[in-house]
Amino acid sequence: MPKEIFPSSFECDCGHQSDFSERTVREMKTMSQKKKVYLADSAPEEHTIVFHRGKMVEIQCPKQPQSHDTRKSASKSRPSMKRSTTRGIPDEVKTDVEAIVQHFNMTAIRSPHCVYVPRYKGKFLYLDRQDYGRLSPICRLEYTGKMEDWSFAIYKYSDERYDAEEWFFPGAEHADGTLEGAMKAGLEAYPA
Ligand SMILES: [Zn+2]
Repeated sequence: MPKEIFPSSFECDCGHQSDFSERTVREMKTMSQKKKVYLADSAPEEHTIVFHRGKMVEIQCPKQPQSHDTRKSASKSRPSMKRSTTRGIPDEVKTDVEAIVQHFNMTAIRSPHCVYVPRYKGKFLYLDRQDYGRLSPICRLEYTGKMEDWSFAIYKYSDERYDAEEWFFPGAEHADGTLEGAMKAGLEAYPA
């Protein structure tokens, strides 16, 4: 039986341990009240933790063949759940990203002189912002396999790097795993 290791790690029958942030696990459990949700770790041997009704119900192990049932329900809830997260962001996810960013630019910022511009590298999505023609780094999101659960890292100009540990900046409370949340956080951290 897969084991939950308090507060935010999970151990598969094969001995593999998946570690997440406590916040991520808390959110997954909350989200799983109404439907099954899947949380993939970022290890080379990717394991997917399945939550339902507020608790972990299963760990999908790459070393063990999945039951037919599980695979079917997993692919139904998210067609892009192919084992692609370690390779990069799937094209269909990028298409969704473009639409969400464009929508945010038009509805939330409402200035043609200030827009978020997505760019990709591996499993990372970088959100730069173009303010009056100048392109600046704002934040970096890591794809975890789900559109609602990106790992957020703000760009720190003082260090000239992205920092996933930095949560004390104006707007940090908006970074909830979604793209919209990340863009809102970016707008408060670095006002246009
Ligand atoms: Zn395993």
